[in-house]
Amino acid sequence: MIPTREITWNVDLLGRIALYALLALPIGFLAFGLARRLRMWRLGRPDDRFDRLAARLWGAVVASIFHARIVRRQNLYGGIAHALIFWGFVVLFIGTVIVMIEHDITVPLFGFSFYRGNFYLGFKLAMNLAGLLLIAGVLMALVRRLVLRPVTLESSADDLVVLTFLLVLSVQGFVLQALRLAVERDPWAAWSFVSYPMSLVLQGLPERLLRSLHLVNWWSHMLTTTVFLAYVAFSKMIHPFTGLASVVFRRLQPAGKLEPIENLEEAERLGIAGLEDFTWAQLLHVDACMHCGRCLEYCPTFHTGKPLRPRDLILEIAGYVADRGGIFSGELGQGMNTARFRWGSGAERELIGGVVSTEEIWDCTTCGACMEQCPVYIEHVPLIAGLRRHLVLERGEFPNELTTVFNNLERLASPYQFRPAQRADWTKKLEQPVPEMAELAASGEEVEYLFWVGCLGSFDGRNQRTTIALARIMQAAGIRFAILGREETCTGDPARRAGNEYLAQLLGQQAVETLNAYQVKKIVTACPHCFNAIKNEFPQLGGHYEVVHHSQLISALLAQGRLRLDPDSAIARGKVTYHDPCYLGRYNRVFDEPRAAISALPGVELAEMRRNRSRSFCCGGGGGRMFMEESRGRRINQARVAEAQATGAEVLAAACPFCMTMFEDGIRGAGVEGNLRVLDIAELVAGSLVTPQEDGTTTAEGTYEPSG
Ligand code: SF4
Ligand code: SF4
Repeated sequence: MIPTREITWNVDLLGRIALYALLALPIGFLAFGLARRLRMWRLGRPDDRFDRLAARLWGAVVASIFHARIVRRQNLYGGIAHALIFWGFVVLFIGTVIVMIEHDITVPLFGFSFYRGNFYLGFKLAMNLAGLLLIAGVLMALVRRLVLRPVTLESSADDLVVLTFLLVLSVQGFVLQALRLAVERDPWAAWSFVSYPMSLVLQGLPERLLRSLHLVNWWSHMLTTTVFLAYVAFSKMIHPFTGLASVVFRRLQPAGKLEPIENLEEAERLGIAGLEDFTWAQLLHVDACMHCGRCLEYCPTFHTGKPLRPRDLILEIAGYVADRGGIFSGELGQGMNTARFRWGSGAERELIGGVVSTEEIWDCTTCGACMEQCPVYIEHVPLIAGLRRHLVLERGEFPNELTTVFNNLERLASPYQFRPAQRADWTKKLEQPVPEMAELAASGEEVEYLFWVGCLGSFDGRNQRTTIALARIMQAAGIRFAILGREETCTGDPARRAGNEYLAQLLGQQAVETLNAYQVKKIVTACPHCFNAIKNEFPQLGGHYEVVHHSQLISALLAQGRLRLDPDSAIARGKVTYHDPCYLGRYNRVFDEPRAAISALPGVELAEMRRNRSRSFCCGGGGGRMFMEESRGRRINQARVAEAQATGAEVLAAACPFCMTMFEDGIRGAGVEGNLRVLDIAELVAGSLVTPQEDGTTTAEGTYEPSG
């Protein structure tokens, strides 16, 4: 006897015809729902997202099949629940298609049956396992939503409806199978390891009753499937389609690169203020948001009680574009994460002010933690930058504190009120001179590195100490380097992140012209914001350089034995914790080199903070925030300082002048000056250097403390 079964057992011809008629309905709904969405996405501006198709498709495979951004250590329970649902559902769906192929194609058209023998037994095993996984995943998800209720998760009726549908469908499937097995008593029934024990319980019932129950259950299963499939197009369950599309058409540019406004002088609309300002990919992305809340997990504004919650921002925009795009009327956002199935057009609302508040727009530190976590690669920061651009360039509306910053940038090419001639003043505190490119060019000399000092490193007393330390390290290692001195300008990073694209492009162009005039090839900088701008944004302006962060250079010099450290160094001992700057770590994936440099210090033990590397927690200073008052919620820098203190470290190692300033401020604000001090990696290493003396002996610089 060959193991198999009659596919439409106990169902007459009328039932089979009705089944196909029923299925046509939700498939039509789904096609209609997707077509409406496609029409809405096409309302966006052009954006070339069809390049590197292989990388796009592979990314989609990794994101969907392997759940790369969903099953993560920090959200294991939720990730596993989703993976179980996904895998269970996918296998059951594939199984249904296989059965239909056997029933409707291979047998009637070719007289060939593959649904038998070992294939059949394996199929039964797989289907039972998939159904079990699906039920387990759904139950876990229900517990998460109804009992555990993590702060990042907001549940709507839609979520519960979808989970209930999945639960009912899988239970119905097992009951159907058990009723048939109770009548048929297949010798191989044990392969259906879930429904077989159920069938043993049912075997005591009369066959007529079992057949009637089977028929009733079959019809209810088909009707539930039909209603569920029809619901898919207008609910959260559309996300397997929109989410996949969002991943395929994700941005493949460096994460830290903001796209410039092309032809700035001629552009008719600047920034984002309405439906027509979004690119089609942005419309697709916001439409794909499934309000999972993962973007909240490391968001500094969410965790310090500020109005900006990236999930709600995206949903607010999604509600707006769906409304204007004609597929939904109503509002989405905080507390309103409902299914998107309403019709018609809602009340006329302005995007900025009416849908998204200016507080939300200006609270963002552009740290990128939301984008790093989003499973469907939604790009929050470019959207926020677009909204800021409109406010700054079209309306001239921005926080008061930025007025001075923009004025200084325009007049002095730096956010501060220092003259360009003062840029190289810090060099006077060094024993050995630091040449400027202009002098070297005149004498025809070449250098290995151009040291891009940055505005904070040039003018800010505290950050000058880092600059001096780095110069000492390079001098000790025998590196030939020079600075631009008065010719250096701001890279435009704070202006660009604060929405002033005019200024950003002006400053960037000026910097690139200067660098190109000196034919600079290699640049070292201690500022991750400058590093990111030079590496990722200067190519837009014709500037192509090899740029390294000072932590990379220092760790390489240590590894090459070009720096000698004193075991009796006094500048830092014991536990040192390291803060990953967002523009170095998350945006440019430099995680190991700073740690290698710290770990090389004699007598120092690296203690990691709870949130580290790509899951680091912002200092609060990016996106122009360092220049603005933090008037809403708790202070971000103090939250991070508390986390550093929790490691038991006495030194918080920084690798960014913005972080340095924020942490100095945070330590003072928290009143923990006696317990924790912040030192840049360059200071830690320079403070431990063994330097040759004139008499041929060596000494450590461990106690050095350059005046600020
Ligand atoms: S933006 Fe991304 S991470 Fe945030 S809720 Fe939407 S889908 Fe989830
Ligand atoms: S970039 Fe950072 S601060 Fe801004 S929304 Fe995302 S996580 Fe929050």
